[in-house]
Amino acid sequence: MDLSLGLYIHIPFCSGKCAYCDFYSRAGCEEFMDPYCDALCQHITEAAEQMDSFIIDTVYFGGGTPSYFGADRLLRVLNTIRRSARLLVDSEVTLEANPESVSLSELIKLRKGGFNRISLGVQSSDDGILESIGRRHTFRQAEDAVKLIRKAGFKNLSLDLIYGLPSQTREGWADTLSRCLSLKPEHLSCYGLKIEPGTPLYLYRDAPYIPDDDMQADMYLYAVDTLRRHGYRQYEISNFAKKGMHSRHNLRYWTGGQYMGFGVAAHSYVADTRYSIISDLHEYIRCIQTGRSVIASNEAISRFEKASEYLMLGLRTTRGISEQEYQDIYPCSFDLIRHAMGEYVRMGLAMFDGDRWSLTPRGFLLSNTIISSVMEAQTRQRNAANAPWINNSAHEQDPQLSLFIAASEDVPLFRGI
Ligand code: SF4
Repeated sequence: MDLSLGLYIHIPFCSGKCAYCDFYSRAGCEEFMDPYCDALCQHITEAAEQMDSFIIDTVYFGGGTPSYFGADRLLRVLNTIRRSARLLVDSEVTLEANPESVSLSELIKLRKGGFNRISLGVQSSDDGILESIGRRHTFRQAEDAVKLIRKAGFKNLSLDLIYGLPSQTREGWADTLSRCLSLKPEHLSCYGLKIEPGTPLYLYRDAPYIPDDDMQADMYLYAVDTLRRHGYRQYEISNFAKKGMHSRHNLRYWTGGQYMGFGVAAHSYVADTRYSIISDLHEYIRCIQTGRSVIASNEAISRFEKASEYLMLGLRTTRGISEQEYQDIYPCSFDLIRHAMGEYVRMGLAMFDGDRWSLTPRGFLLSNTIISSVMEAQTRQRNAANAPWINNSAHEQDPQLSLFIAASEDVPLFRGI
């Protein structure tokens, strides 16, 4: 069993709410930052036993806006991790930041304290669009933030961009890419706008100024081509990096690696068990203070489900999937999956290099449909095989899982796993 583990720390505070955001984050709750920091540190400390058998090699502070939480609180959390778990010296430690909440002094403190990667939310080079989607910074502020990040000594910077924004044209997207490329980030994430129910933008989902699917597809293919020409390797549907500068933490998610989440609304996947933490800031703090469980849901993952996730996540990456890796997880025939992937190769939506299948950029545009059909093929294969080895016995056989569960039962926060 893999002994490496990534930690995800959720910081749910933002200076305001963006119109498209459906992450768990709260604006106007600054007075809860200190109690939340106390609760997080207590949660991490009490989980020391669960983390004991692992080596931590990535830590990701996501949100929300972690940079808005302040360097002192962030370092207190990171130091608590160091005291509670075996954190490798050369771990990747990422901080999500927004341009309006960084300063040179704070960045220097963070870098000296062990943070070594910044993921900056830039989204667009068009100030009118930024304002219309509720961002609280201009592009000029993003450029200034990049200068400060570099001045503080960070050598690993990622910029987050969104295409398909309201009123955005192809030229506007090209301008965003070109101006961001001139900032020379090591990594870029380009996400297509998704208008989720419950967000303020949802009311305008059918407005004529929202780019349609065809335009989003053009913008995506333009980004893939432009970034490739500038030396960025695509390693996942939406992620591009200079050689060796991919996000180790995020790649862990996409390759089925283990991670443990702390803080409100965080998710974990450890020892074939997936669990989530309650999505209520005040309740989270109260539960930690009173020793009650913060677990909202947990689910043991069978071999079949693990193999489904392997297919689903693997096809999001340019590394793709292989028959051998699939059968290492789930010893069942690959025939129907091979057949489905062969069809996509013929349609120009996938590639096969003799060992691995992966999607082409046009395939990535249709990834939801392709992945669903591959998973249907997997289900048909299982049903056809009706093999006696298809059961969920993996859990009983895994000694590390037993240790994890035994340790969990002693700690109230983990009761119920
Ligand atoms: S800054 Fe990020 S987490 Fe906060 S509201 Fe905007 S999109 Fe959501």
